[in-house]
Amino acid sequence: MGKVVGIDLGTTNSVIAVMEGGKPVVIANSEGMRTTPSVVGFSNDGEQLVGQMARRQSVLNPQNTYSAVKRYMGRRYAELSPESKRVPYTIRKDESGNIKIKCPRLRKEFAPEEVSAMILRKLAEEATRYLGEPVTGAVITVPAYFNDAQRQATRDAGRIAGLEVMRVLNEPTAASLAYGLDRREQQTILVFDLGGGTFDVSVLDIDDGVFEVKATAGDTQLGGNDFDKKIVDWLADQFLEKESIDLRRDRQSLQRLMEAAEKAKIELSGVTVTDINLPFITATEDGPKHLETRLVRSQFEDLCRDLIGRLRSPVKQALADANLTSRDIDEVVLVGGSTRMPMVKQLVRSLIDREPNENVNPDEVVAVGAAIQAGILTQEVRDIMLLDVIPLSLGLETIGGVTKN
Ligand code: AMP
Repeated sequence: MGKVVGIDLGTTNSVIAVMEGGKPVVIANSEGMRTTPSVVGFSNDGEQLVGQMARRQSVLNPQNTYSAVKRYMGRRYAELSPESKRVPYTIRKDESGNIKIKCPRLRKEFAPEEVSAMILRKLAEEATRYLGEPVTGAVITVPAYFNDAQRQATRDAGRIAGLEVMRVLNEPTAASLAYGLDRREQQTILVFDLGGGTFDVSVLDIDDGVFEVKATAGDTQLGGNDFDKKIVDWLADQFLEKESIDLRRDRQSLQRLMEAAEKAKIELSGVTVTDINLPFITATEDGPKHLETRLVRSQFEDLCRDLIGRLRSPVKQALADANLTSRDIDEVVLVGGSTRMPMVKQLVRSLIDREPNENVNPDEVVAVGAAIQAGILTQEVRDIMLLDVIPLSLGLETIGGVTKN
């Protein structure tokens, strides 16, 4: 049998990791990046693009570029909220009520599982190249709130990608595994996961290798993209006032604004001030126009006050649903690239008076946990017995092959 890898199939980004010499290793893609945007596109030439290349054409070729497809996995069209239908590409309901994603370039339609499979395939190919041996199996992570249909769709995506899906593992469980939190006494963990497009809070109980998700809450429409958008609007409003041109109306300019905004946001996690320079952002009869400005961290934080406010209630909700208070939490685990923002860390500290676990890269921690689980299954990692329990609908799925009611 070939290698078994761990895959974090995220809404915005995906990551693949594998056990090597008893240690989890994140595999970089061919562009040298350790995270791959969960974006699939078809170029004007009809070429399939996955990852950064697809993301780069998202504003210019929106109808043929698919992001955040995870939101549609295992869902019926009728279950979708109006917001989740609002995407730059076209989705429709087929005869059986399932979601289909239109690809005008190829004059085809895809099921969400097929698009996810293209991402999984790309990751598995990168891993095969890195390892020099075929990847045949995977542990794939899913949000703790995923129901059976969503978990099944994830398995199907793996199968379409030619992988044997050995386990579907809850993301908060994977993150806790990456910190070795399973190796201690009974404890209660809060996993705070703020990614690119979604926010999840989970409360887990771990005892003797049994991970039980006690409660989950979150906001499926809140993530790092919203923080980028604050900067985009700030830049565009300034420019509008000065030049009377709304840059958001031009696709090329908007694409550049979005990229610059994300870059500035990321820089402001490390430094307190950043310069934003976009030469030739547009042109008028008077000639080319440039955008040059400076953003200070405190200014950025002011712009994002409402977003930070929206992070509070799911934390309170998850604690209340688990019948706990913040004092009952033994460990806090940060997951998702957006938890690198100082204002987010500060919020977590203010809600739960504990220093969060953040030694493992927050955007890699779930994939690392998935690789450890893959290691457990292939017996590369010994002495861990893992049972992952979700107290959701009837017909509970337990990961570890045991059913618990
Ligand atoms: P994830 O889905 O976990 O990969 O998170 C991706 C999100 O994290 C994107 O919105 C990124 O812009 C954001 N992100 C990554 N690194 C940083 C950073 N250093 N500071 C702020 N946001 C970041």
